[in-house]
Amino acid sequence: MPTVEVISVGTELLLGQILNTHGQYLGRELASLGLDLYYQTSVGDNRARIIQAFARAWERSDVVILTGGVGPTDDDLTKEAVAGFFGLDLVEDAASRRSIEEFFTHRGRQMTPNNLKQALMPRGAKPLPNPNGTAPGVLLETGGKAAVILPGPPAELVPMFTEHVRPYLAERWGGGRSVIVSRVLRLCGIGESDAETRVKDILARQDNPTIAPLASGGEVTFRLTAKAPSPGEAETLLAGAEAEMRRRLGDFIYGLDDQSLSDVVGDQMTRAGLTIALAESCTGGLIGHQLTQRPGSSGYFRLGVTAYANEAKAVVLGVPRQTLEHHGAVSEETALAMAQGVRRVAGTDLAVATTGIAGPGGGTPEKPVGLVYGALLWPGGEDIRRWEFIGGRRHIRERAAFAALTMLWSHLKGVRRTGPTTGGAGRGPSAGV
Ligand code: ATP
Ligand code: MG
Repeated sequence: MPTVEVISVGTELLLGQILNTHGQYLGRELASLGLDLYYQTSVGDNRARIIQAFARAWERSDVVILTGGVGPTDDDLTKEAVAGFFGLDLVEDAASRRSIEEFFTHRGRQMTPNNLKQALMPRGAKPLPNPNGTAPGVLLETGGKAAVILPGPPAELVPMFTEHVRPYLAERWGGGRSVIVSRVLRLCGIGESDAETRVKDILARQDNPTIAPLASGGEVTFRLTAKAPSPGEAETLLAGAEAEMRRRLGDFIYGLDDQSLSDVVGDQMTRAGLTIALAESCTGGLIGHQLTQRPGSSGYFRLGVTAYANEAKAVVLGVPRQTLEHHGAVSEETALAMAQGVRRVAGTDLAVATTGIAGPGGGTPEKPVGLVYGALLWPGGEDIRRWEFIGGRRHIRERAAFAALTMLWSHLKGVRRTGPTTGGAGRGPSAGV
């Protein structure tokens, strides 16, 4: 099976000034062709280092795709480096010269001599036409391998890849004879290590699909990647692995691929025909923002109050001043009273409240930064949680919003992880949210 490798050329990539979107684009394209991509390299606009990166890639891969650095300026060195590596001259390609000249005439712009540098090709290489810019791409086949050079601007690279390189990879390198398909399982209400422990043996013997745990933003996900001769067969492999994962972790899987927890909760609310109101303190409207991103959210979302000051909690939400004084704004009692208050005002079925210390200041030994209470009310019941999150302000706020949505999701799906919780349950850092 041939292997492909990508080298992105550009000092701005190394300086973090632009994101390497070619890496992502080509990675996806190659996966959809079923071609194995084992390495991606970024290298600056430096002839010696481009040659070095290319030499390594050429040694271990069959097809090396380079992006960027084929423009007219002195720091555009990719073709020079590749030609230098093979000891090939750069010779002018007449057709490329004509199309560069036409490009300028067409636009009524003056061509400068350095633009003709773009018509130079390593001897024996095939130019790839570029109708969207001046620099042609390069296809150089030698020694049973191939080097492909594509222009840096995405508006030039993408069409050139789809029109010329993709068909070439399919025809010459067997691309498309198999496909690589991924599926992401998204979990909530469980911590990363707990989740991994439960599927440890599956992870140990996984092969096709491969199963990779990923943790991001307080969320645990597993990516399943299958390779098969057809999308249908890949789907079958994925379905088998997913079913096995679901037997262990089904209670915690809320969605697939790019589904968000708030969208899934929105679906649950719609199906259940319930309405909700929010009283947010430390999350500052994040939960409301997420719940209202879904089209059709007006069907269940009634009111969101961001009540920061004690006065606002008392006046707008009717939190008893006594509660605020005795227990403090960050307490189980206040969270519950906030939820009750907003439900009273909005007349909804459900209410969710958050109150906590997002930091970086304001923590005490009893109430440290990261302490957050979440309350959920539904007709005939309530749930109050105490969480201790670590991390910076943004992280704490995001995790608190995710945890509150997790509470809501668990309730709506009718699965209660912990028993009745009012008055003390869920104490201590709760795992996984
Ligand atoms: P030009 O003819 O514009 O000089 P080029 O082929 O020489 O094109 P570069 O000079 O390396 O390519 O990059 C031109 C522009 O293309 C960059 O400023 C950037 O906007 C975009 N670009 C280059 N490489 C990447 C990449 N890996 N990911 C995303 N964008 C990129
Ligand atoms: Mg350039």
